[in-house]
Amino acid sequence: MKTIKTKQDLAINGAAPAFEEPLHVGCPNIGSREGFLKYAGEIFDRRWLTNNGPLVQEFEQRVAEYHNVTHCVAMCSGTVALEIAIRALGLEGEVIIPSYTFIATAHALHWQAITPVFADIDPATHTLDPDAVRSMITPRTTGIIGVHLWGRSAPVEALQAIADEYGLKLMFDAAHAFGCSYRGTMVGSFGACEVLSFHATKFFNTFEGGAVLTNDDKLADAMRLMRNFGFSGMDNVIHPGTNGKMIEVAAAMGLVNLDAITSVIEANKHNFQAYHEGLSGLSGISLLTFDESELNNYQYVVMVVDEKCPVTRDQIFQSLHAENILARKYFWPGCHKMKPYVDLYPHADLLLPNTCQVADRVIILPTGTAVNSNMIQAVISVIQTYISG
Ligand SMILES: *Cc1c(COP(=O)(O)O)cnc(C)c1O
Repeated sequence: MKTIKTKQDLAINGAAPAFEEPLHVGCPNIGSREGFLKYAGEIFDRRWLTNNGPLVQEFEQRVAEYHNVTHCVAMCSGTVALEIAIRALGLEGEVIIPSYTFIATAHALHWQAITPVFADIDPATHTLDPDAVRSMITPRTTGIIGVHLWGRSAPVEALQAIADEYGLKLMFDAAHAFGCSYRGTMVGSFGACEVLSFHATKFFNTFEGGAVLTNDDKLADAMRLMRNFGFSGMDNVIHPGTNGKMIEVAAAMGLVNLDAITSVIEANKHNFQAYHEGLSGLSGISLLTFDESELNNYQYVVMVVDEKCPVTRDQIFQSLHAENILARKYFWPGCHKMKPYVDLYPHADLLLPNTCQVADRVIILPTGTAVNSNMIQAVISVIQTYISG
């Protein structure tokens, strides 16, 4: 790594890139290797690889405790957890979601012949705008899925009030919000249920995995049946179902990552503060900040480039990539611009002005335990030099 001094030294002008190896967004946060291998040894000794094994049970209990919620139902991915939660809640017809989210929120509905209806977001928070949700309700609407984007809670009370008023089910995609709180309550207890993702790139991972958190005993029972083909006992199927089970080796990763969670939050928080200091004062550049009165996981460093910036978001993005800093344009251009939704709603842009604006302005910067202060200073230096050089 070298320090960048002038605009002529930027890789975009043919100089060597700042990073020899690519610097990724979402490089996994991994706990103790020895701890994991010890668990792996136990799995081999027991020969109990899947089907609600002891590590999955321990993992579910610890994740539920961490979020102060009655049930954690662990699954093989966040997407399957979303699909099962959606089905267990009996959603059908139309369900209102933001377009500014990862495509899985929409796909989990469409995959089950439910129509996702996109409502606009609040440009200040990047989460659903309750008035926009209200305006998208039709006689076919059965539910709302709020997304706690970047770990910041969706407007929980306002969405619950709308759901109550119209008799709709409310659930949350909490894929980004492991360990986050809203008004002092941990994510997991809002709406009918909340879905976590433990994908490798997320704040907290089990290689691949996900879970539904809920305080509803009946809903949890139904989801436990659904993730295991509806089996109740050896030869008795009492519910339709699929294969959504978490495997033991995934739970082992989850358990060592739970042990490491405090240090991951510290690293992320430190990284966020370094970015915040380094990028403050650059015209047209701002970072989405965190409410320090809440618990945050600081996993997403969200840089917003507005019209006051002398260069465009895409120009900054290209200059970062030229330096091997693989920043991401999450979640550009919005689900409504992707198949199959772009065909369903060719004119959705007209109803989603804030979504389009935010999607055109955001760059996600690399953080996590694999990223240190020196790397962050180099990223900041590229951005500073590119904008002001
Ligand atoms: C990652 C993600 C998902 C899907 O989770 P997987 O575990 O990758 O299936 C769903 N919603 C959002 C907002 C996500 O970021």
